[in-house]
Amino acid sequence: MQLRDYQQASVNAAIEHFRRSSGSAVIVLPTGAGKSIVIAELAKLAKGRVLVLTHVKELVAQNAEKINLLTERAGIYSAGLNSKQTQHKTVVASIQSACRALDSFNEPFSLVIIDECHRISDDKDSQYQAFLHHLRSINPNIKVLGLTATPYRLGQGFIFRHHYHGKVGNPDGAMFEQCIFELPLRPLIKQGYLTPPKVFDAIEAQYNFTQVERNSDGYFNQQQVSHILNTSGRATTAIVKQIKALATERKGVIIFAATVKHAQEIMKLLGDETKAIVTADTDNASRDTLLIDFKAQKIKYLVNVSVLTTGFDAPHVDFIAILRPTESVSLYQQMVGRGLRLAPDKTDCLVIDYAANGFSLFYPEIGRPKPDSQSVPVQVICPACDFANTFWGKTDGDGDIIEHYGRRCQASNDNQQCQYRFRARICPDCGAENDIAARQCHQCQSVLVDPDTHLKQILKKQQHHLFKVHEMHLEVNPTGLTVRYLDIDGNDYCRRFSMQTPAQLRALYALFIYPHSRTPGIKPPRYQQAQQIVSDQHTFRAPDLLLLKKNKKGWDLQQSYFDYQGKYQTHSSL
Ligand SMILES: [Zn+2]
Ligand SMILES: [Zn+2]
Repeated sequence: MQLRDYQQASVNAAIEHFRRSSGSAVIVLPTGAGKSIVIAELAKLAKGRVLVLTHVKELVAQNAEKINLLTERAGIYSAGLNSKQTQHKTVVASIQSACRALDSFNEPFSLVIIDECHRISDDKDSQYQAFLHHLRSINPNIKVLGLTATPYRLGQGFIFRHHYHGKVGNPDGAMFEQCIFELPLRPLIKQGYLTPPKVFDAIEAQYNFTQVERNSDGYFNQQQVSHILNTSGRATTAIVKQIKALATERKGVIIFAATVKHAQEIMKLLGDETKAIVTADTDNASRDTLLIDFKAQKIKYLVNVSVLTTGFDAPHVDFIAILRPTESVSLYQQMVGRGLRLAPDKTDCLVIDYAANGFSLFYPEIGRPKPDSQSVPVQVICPACDFANTFWGKTDGDGDIIEHYGRRCQASNDNQQCQYRFRARICPDCGAENDIAARQCHQCQSVLVDPDTHLKQILKKQQHHLFKVHEMHLEVNPTGLTVRYLDIDGNDYCRRFSMQTPAQLRALYALFIYPHSRTPGIKPPRYQQAQQIVSDQHTFRAPDLLLLKKNKKGWDLQQSYFDYQGKYQTHSSL
């Protein structure tokens, strides 16, 4: 069996990495790229014993089958597959079964490979963590390799600390040291290894989940989602009607529903079509039967609530309908990935997003939640090290960046993150730049006082006023530029900048242009005339709050607050 180019390249990357490092590593391959072949080849080449771990018995069977094709027969340890073999050179195990029988794994392994490794939680008591701890106690030098299509966990960020492209992942808490290989989706489709998606946007009806808030773990608030669905019955009827009409030419349809009640409603609307529902409450036996019938195409529609995102394969699926709000690019890609496998007579896979999530299959994972539905990935060059960062941002009609939300440069050199910050909170004690959400200065450890505490103290004094900015207008005046801030009641506060001498222009840049830029780190134009700045008004953002102090004639600006998140109400929270 001949490995494809990228499969061979990922195998080489793993061998190369473990030759010079014992740090844990991740390989990122899209769904359908043939991860199990890569695992089998590594099992064949490894000199010592290899343990392959995964979370579902389907993947245990699939991985063992590929290993048996390439090298000597693997042992299988999985209660679901009724097998408890641990003495072979290569063992494929389900994590649930293995961690219930630690003592069966007392013979040392030299390499452990974890399939779908984005599922490992960073909780030290999780099954994976406990089992890895056991393996290390038997062989402290065991190498750890993870494989996944989506190296990202909601609420935790990237699962690796550094990426071989020279960027950081999650340098503080990630489970894996290094991402050593990553293959994007586009070339796989181009080379014909995956089915092209056909994104359909002539949508009959759509849900509006834009107001739904996120919980602290990054997931959407389910109560708010249910509330929206309870009042969207008409939309659901129209959506299911359209799905049925479009599916007449399709063989297998997976519908992602938002809640169990929602899924039941969809089932009802599907009428006498062949259909099945799978939720977290479906017992294993019925789930197995349903999936077998679906793969055999006895059932056309499979409606599910967050259970079919990974580890399930039915290559004939040629229609993916998303009717749920989607928290991340990775999750979106997992769902669409269910429909991209090759199958006889399949030319494309229809993809419809009825929840207006605004993701593209080809977006890179940004590593942070998408700020709003209009945001797209934008490339921002670091002024300090020239690294091309990808952040969420906004572009105008020409594709030029008009705003980005990057905070710190993502470049990683010798596993050290570039120090450049696009937005920063300056430590009042030592002047160091910190993340805008930092609570403690990374340089002098002094507590960065919460702006609210600071404001509360100051506002006790009579002569101070907190101005809540609702709008900002730029105007030309006889000597330069006027910046007019307005509050919700139409009161204004003005700052005037002369633009006649080089010193005045420097002051304008320091006090207005740089702090108000929506694209920090990107060099602003060289403004000579106030009119040019007024024309570029859309590239400047207003502060949320101004702290003003009374003087003899009026008010002095003491401080401007950008990116403010506190209890004083601002225009953005109104
Ligand atoms: Zn940099
Ligand atoms: Zn400091």
